[in-house]
Amino acid sequence: MNTWVVLKFGGSSVSNLAKWKVILATVKQRLAAGYKVVLVHSAAQGLTDLLTKKITNNDDIYTPFKDKLNTLCKELKVELQLVSEQLKKLKSLVEKPTLDLWQQAELLALGEQCTHVLGVAYLNTQIETASLDPKSCLISSTDDQRSTESQILSAKCRVARNDILSEKLTENFYVMPGFYVSNCNHKTVLLGRGGSDTSAAYMAVLLHAKQLEIWTDVHGIFSANPHSIPSARLLLKLGYQEAREIAASGGKVLHPRCILPVEQHNIPLLIKNTNDPEKVGTVLAHEYSPTKPRVSAINARHQVTLVSMESINMWHQAGFMGDIFAIYKELGLSIDLVSTAQTNVTISLDNMDNVLTTSKLKALKDALSTLCEVTVIKNCSAVTLVGYRIRALADKIAPVLSSYADQRVHITTQSSNDLNQTFVVDEDQADKLVRALHEVLIIEDKEIDDFGPTWTELVQEKQAKPTVTTAWWQNQASELLSIAQEHSPCYAYHLPTIKGQIEQIKKLSAVDRFYYASKANSHPDVLRFMYQNGVCLETVSPMEIQRVQSVCPEISPQHILFTPNFAPIDEYRDEIEKGIHVTIDNPSLLFDYPEIFKHKAVILRLDPGHGSGHHRYVRTAGVHSKFGIPADDVERVAEFCEKNQISVIGLHAHSGSGILDHSNWARIADYLGSCLPHFPEVEIINVGGGLGIRENPGDLGLDLLQLNTALLAFKADHPNIKIWMEPGRFLVAHCGVLMAKVTQTKWKGKQGYIGIETGMNSLIRPALYGAWHNIVNLSKINDAHEYTANIVGPMCETGDVLGIDRKMPKTQVKDVLLIANAGAYGAVMASNYNLRAPAKEIIIK
Ligand SMILES: *Cc1c(COP(=O)(O)O)cnc(C)c1O
Repeated sequence: MNTWVVLKFGGSSVSNLAKWKVILATVKQRLAAGYKVVLVHSAAQGLTDLLTKKITNNDDIYTPFKDKLNTLCKELKVELQLVSEQLKKLKSLVEKPTLDLWQQAELLALGEQCTHVLGVAYLNTQIETASLDPKSCLISSTDDQRSTESQILSAKCRVARNDILSEKLTENFYVMPGFYVSNCNHKTVLLGRGGSDTSAAYMAVLLHAKQLEIWTDVHGIFSANPHSIPSARLLLKLGYQEAREIAASGGKVLHPRCILPVEQHNIPLLIKNTNDPEKVGTVLAHEYSPTKPRVSAINARHQVTLVSMESINMWHQAGFMGDIFAIYKELGLSIDLVSTAQTNVTISLDNMDNVLTTSKLKALKDALSTLCEVTVIKNCSAVTLVGYRIRALADKIAPVLSSYADQRVHITTQSSNDLNQTFVVDEDQADKLVRALHEVLIIEDKEIDDFGPTWTELVQEKQAKPTVTTAWWQNQASELLSIAQEHSPCYAYHLPTIKGQIEQIKKLSAVDRFYYASKANSHPDVLRFMYQNGVCLETVSPMEIQRVQSVCPEISPQHILFTPNFAPIDEYRDEIEKGIHVTIDNPSLLFDYPEIFKHKAVILRLDPGHGSGHHRYVRTAGVHSKFGIPADDVERVAEFCEKNQISVIGLHAHSGSGILDHSNWARIADYLGSCLPHFPEVEIINVGGGLGIRENPGDLGLDLLQLNTALLAFKADHPNIKIWMEPGRFLVAHCGVLMAKVTQTKWKGKQGYIGIETGMNSLIRPALYGAWHNIVNLSKINDAHEYTANIVGPMCETGDVLGIDRKMPKTQVKDVLLIANAGAYGAVMASNYNLRAPAKEIIIK
């Protein structure tokens, strides 16, 4: 009898040669251990997004798609010609003005199919590899009662152990594309979101696999989203049901649909990180049930809308609830949470699929208002605790919630199996609530078994590996220590590192001009250095402009960009008179003061509709952000400018900070490009800044090559348009470190604290955004880690924390701690809070 394992590699895990080498090594290991292997894979990162654009925007995506494949071919040293048939099919589909559902499925499957052909060609140069056609073994179920659309784009298969298939597969190693399967008429249908995971789960069931391994770009399931809570702990062991609850509550690692098949057939599911293959992961299995009550994960889902229905006496009448729910059903709205009281029923609608349009909400309100009084509450977040016997933890949860008494908890729901509890709060409260609950339920409960290392520990350990690039300060420890002896607490800025970042960014050949966002670090030497190295300067206040002009007296006004927000009108008038490029982000300025802008050239800041970024406070687009002209106003503004002889020469958007998704800027360009027909004089598109950096030397960072490819595609379509970009943090974060001496150490039970001379008065990012900065003991840089401690400042403020749960060597008073990546939004955001002067700034040439 054969013993199979099924391995699944996701989009980012099949997108370059390094990842394919990990795949190869993993497969070889499994084969050597005596298993037969089926490898299921997704489409290489970015391909499916492109294909989707054909369907949503009718974009001509043929060339960018082909370019992406070409890049992959070059990496894998295989011929693009291998996919000529698939490309031909793509071409014919792209040329059709509209696609029916069957054609959409055919189109979307091309991402997996092309990746498959290229991946198999590469693997065959290394190891004997057989290709497996999913349509030959996975057939969607014929008794699906759902809509045709669901049956084609989100199909389901009914699977059971199939020993005949297992015997028929005589090779030892098969590769199969995920996401698409066959229907009973041999047509292509898709498995919907998380489809490749589901394909792999089905295969594991068919082959009665010993194990299903999902390889992705995280270590496993964490107790919270590690991007907002770096002290989130890896969950080593979970029950299937618990994992499904976590997936449904916003933990994005697995799609709930892929868990069910392996759960029903009791096949263990292991999650592993392709970027760090040696590390532990999360295992899902049956036999598991913890002994104590516990919360294992806390997650938030955003964009939740609540509908509160109030009625004095009707709830008791038979059929009334039925009538209410029939209305939702008719409108195709799925209800997520329900909470009932004497005279009120409140439900939540999940807007993740973006089906909740304003007109639909209005229709819902109209239909319901004949039955009850309706209030719609938008922009909520559902914060969900998942665990075992959560009710038994009420004594710990209640105090956290009561500290939120002024921030209303709209509804609370609890599952009858006691596996989850949800609180719906305003969206801007959610992150804070998650952090507070995580603190008491998970960080303080250090005893719980099955909690693995924190995310920070995992990435810190990774950093110790020799393959990782070294940061500049690692080679300059003794020089930095002598600077710190004299000047601490102090920032040190290393200009050669800025030079290196400028060289990086200049590889973006699609960008015609870079404006450095001065607000990230406006030290005079930094500003001058930028301009001397061919980077223009973007400013947000007249004071920044003054500084720029005083440190670079030769600068032409054209090389200064002024992007104020809610500033007094005089500032606009003065700077525009000087010939400085001014960006306007509020229509009422134009409407109220047309004479100021008459015959002047202006740039308009548009709101592309949704923001991105590492934290809610740094997302600068979407209705919750104060920036930009909303889409609804664009036409009116264009007409007004034309009538009043205001010359719009540029369109701008900046959607957030710390963005690592390379497609962000092309998406902005596409949006601005779609507005061009309204503005015949526009010659510049400014796609903003927000380029994310490697927070850790081991991180992948932003893929500049792909970013450039996408922008080049935009330029090919708009040959007369110049592209500008405004990076801030990307250029300066790495160059700066903050150094401070240890003042005191303390132990409170098991919790260690290391205090240093300065805190949030010098660097507020950890307190404000929960930002993670690497912290090392520079005086003991080569010593082994001995314990974990929180690094705190001297301010009288609980939030004055620079790092949580950091592994440190034995640390003593007067040691110098170094906080890395502090060159951006550090000194510029410093304050004199507590009347403690913030850190000085020192330049290293
Ligand atoms: C802050 C800002 C930037 C720079 O953002 P980073 O995240 O530092 O790259 C760019 N453009 C505008 C308009 C900004 O306000």
